[in-house]
Amino acid sequence: MNIQDYKTVKNLLESPKKIVVVPHRNPDGDAIGACLAIQHYLLKKNHEVIVVSPNELPGFLTWMPSAKDILKFDKQNRQSKKAIQEAELIFLLDFNAINRVGDDMQNTLNDFKGIFLMIDHHPQPETIAEFTFSDVSYSATCEMVYDFIDKLGDKDLIDQTISTCIYTGIMTDTGNFRFPATTPGTHKIVANLMEKGADNAYIYNKVFDSNTYQNLQLLGHALSKLQVIPKLHTAFFALSKNDLKVFDYQKGDTEGIVNYGLSIKGVSLAAIFIEDEDQGIIKISFRSKGTFSVNDFARNYFNGGGHQNAAGARSTLSLEETIDKFVKLVNKYKNEISKSYDN
Ligand code: 5GP
Ligand code: MN
Repeated sequence: MNIQDYKTVKNLLESPKKIVVVPHRNPDGDAIGACLAIQHYLLKKNHEVIVVSPNELPGFLTWMPSAKDILKFDKQNRQSKKAIQEAELIFLLDFNAINRVGDDMQNTLNDFKGIFLMIDHHPQPETIAEFTFSDVSYSATCEMVYDFIDKLGDKDLIDQTISTCIYTGIMTDTGNFRFPATTPGTHKIVANLMEKGADNAYIYNKVFDSNTYQNLQLLGHALSKLQVIPKLHTAFFALSKNDLKVFDYQKGDTEGIVNYGLSIKGVSLAAIFIEDEDQGIIKISFRSKGTFSVNDFARNYFNGGGHQNAAGARSTLSLEETIDKFVKLVNKYKNEISKSYDN
């Protein structure tokens, strides 16, 4: 978005509008944080705002301001479709391709005749929106939302509620401010958010200290099954539908497990394969350190994508076949992976 675009958007937001805000499917802290921050900002500007998520959010985000009012497109289908059809403006937050919302919702969005505005930090965005604020140098979409509000001249409207939402997104997407995309600019914004009332200890506690006994048992089980291939600098987990059943899996319970693979000295590529019985697929998360792009790897071989060092994907093969395919590919890219990071 250029200066003229900001002027146009500012004018657009001068009069009350019906607005829908959309995160990607299986939304994370950044996607939900961005949606709720934008919602609370627009409510202050007298718009009618509804957040429509493609599906359920993980339990560790349900405490967020107004999270309980989020419509789930899969479960509240009629209400969600109605909100989208009646909207004049739709925000697409934390995703770069319309298929990230899933098939059914994608069709409804494709029929939408109003204005799309996309804010996102993933590479290679689709050009589907009238207004696209895309920049891969940002640590989180939430950091972009802060700048977006600032550029519209409304920084003063950022209150404790909006700060809490933005802080949550930045905290989760930066891995608690440790990933390389975390910049001095990120910390300056975080400082401002704390001054506006975002409570860092409270937010951390809500997001990360909300485990159940079963969650930790599932983590322990996953760790006990971790496979490491030292000569390929690779570690991976596999969780079958049976594993998930035994530990009473709920959405979000496997979040972050993949990072334990990457925490092993010498490992530059980690993956987790999770058998998703409902969707009939294997859901995959890839993480890397350094130059090996899991965005390219996921795009080229597993129908996915994401960032250079964090990507998601899916496979319609069986769990065993998916892992076989992965191990063969890792052998093929042995040199790229071993050069990726000096660890
Ligand atoms: P996760 O492994 O946590 O699901 O996703 C890691 C990153 O990749 C996140 O930024 C997420 O938005 C992105 N991502 C996950 N799945 C996909 C996918 O299927 N396609 C694309 N383009 N990005 C994805
Ligand atoms: Mn993000």
